[in-house]
Formats: sequence, structure tokens, C-alpha cells
Amino acid sequence: MPSDACSCPSGDGLRPVWHCQNAPNAAAAVSALQPSRNIATPRPKGACLTASLVDFQTEDQDGMCNILQVRWTLTPKTSPQPWIACSGCGCQKPFRSSGKIRLNANGKRLDAWLVYKCIDCDKTWNRTLFERRTVQDLGPSTLEALQRSDPDWVQAQEFDLDGLKRKAKRIDEPPDVILRKQTIRAASGWTLLDIEISAEFPVNLRFDRLLASELAISRSRLQALRDGGKLRAHPDRNDVFRHKVKDGVRIILDLSEIADRQAIGESAANSDNG
Ligand SMILES: [Zn+2]
Repeated sequence: MPSDACSCPSGDGLRPVWHCQNAPNAAAAVSALQPSRNIATPRPKGACLTASLVDFQTEDQDGMCNILQVRWTLTPKTSPQPWIACSGCGCQKPFRSSGKIRLNANGKRLDAWLVYKCIDCDKTWNRTLFERRTVQDLGPSTLEALQRSDPDWVQAQEFDLDGLKRKAKRIDEPPDVILRKQTIRAASGWTLLDIEISAEFPVNLRFDRLLASELAISRSRLQALRDGGKLRAHPDRNDVFRHKVKDGVRIILDLSEIADRQAIGESAANSDNG
């Protein structure tokens, strides 16, 4: 048995070390893999670690996990584009962020803007981030981020939709995203597909479209799975599948009676199949 294999008798030593609660180092691995918000109740020793997360997940008679668990991380390619009156074009136009911060010192106080450009004529629009703030108010880390237009800091501003809505009546949210798929665990003979959604920034993409596209199945088939109780979301709010993708949601598909389960699983786990 490899040193990083699970000691669970169900896996013939072939499962990864975090397969079961009773595996060496499992507790640390579990806490690293599972966000605390998803862990509802203590698991009995030796139990499949995902089985307690959702109400209808089950283990088979041998105690083997029956889950293919994947994580989809979605990152928008293009930040939101506010529509602003462009003096170059003479009409309202969408403006894209340049990624650059402009700082202006006024005595001991600072003003900061994020510079946007008209997508047609490159005319600039300076979006006010704050005015007349003291260096002490801002703190050293924010000041440094401002001075070097730190990409992470700037990105947080670009995706601050509430802040943008105070400046513009119309905001375009391009639907293009980068999707990274990771396999968290893959039990041989799995029948449940568990998809964890990670989206740090708002993504302008409906759940049903994302799932149909990335699982390579039709939306009508997706709907049939849902109607049959084989597709669920956690948390499951009204019409979650018709709404935009949300960070932290888990999608569970019971594919135990589905003939092309393996093909769907491969699409779920591999980015190049999407
Ligand atoms: Zn313009």
C-alpha cells in the first residue's frame, strides 16, 4: 500500500489518504479540503467524509464512498463595464478598466481614481474611489496597493458592482469566464457527482447553462434530472438553476441510473471536455 493511501478496507489501499476519517492525517486533510460552512455534523469514525454533507448522499453496503467530487473555480475574464457619457463619441458608451489607479495628494489628504477607457475611442473616465482621505485613515497596506495599482486590489474595485451602480445606470457584465476543474476525490464505481462552485467575483452565467455546457448534456435533460429529484443544489433557493452562478453552492447529481455516467463524470472533471 502506498504511504499516502487510505487504510479503508473498501479501497484496496488505492484510495487517497483523505478518503476516510480513519486514514492517517485525515483530519488535517479534511479540514484543508472542506470549508467549515459545509460541515454540518460530526462524522462517525470511518464514514465517508462527504456522506454527511448532504441529506441524500449515501454509502453502499460495504461502506465505500460512491462519490465523484469536483471543484469548479470560475473567474470572469472581463471586469464589469459601466456605461458613461463619452465626450469623444458624443454618446453613452461602455468603459473598460485600465487597471491603473491615479492618486492625487492635496496637502495631507489623498484622492484616488480608477482609470477607465471608452471601448471605442479610448477617452478616459476617472472613477472616484475616495476623496480627501488621510494616509493614516488608509493604512500602509492600502496605500502601497494604491501606489503600485496592485492587481488584486484593483480587481476588487472593478468587481464592486454596488460601487459601480452608484456611478452608472447601466453596467455590462461580460459572460466570458475562465473555468478550472479540479477532482477532489473519485471513488471507483461512483454514482453521485458532487460539484462545488468557487467564484470569488460575480459571474454573469446561469447555473443551468453552465451545467449543461460543462457536463455536455442538454438543458432539457438537465431539467428532467431535476424534475426526477436527481439534481439538487445546496443551498437550494427558488429557481437557483435559472439564476447566476453563486460562490459556495454545491450541485449534487444522482447518476446511479444513468448509462453515460462515466462520460458525464469525465466532462465534470476535465476542463478540455467543457
Ligand atoms: Zn468614446
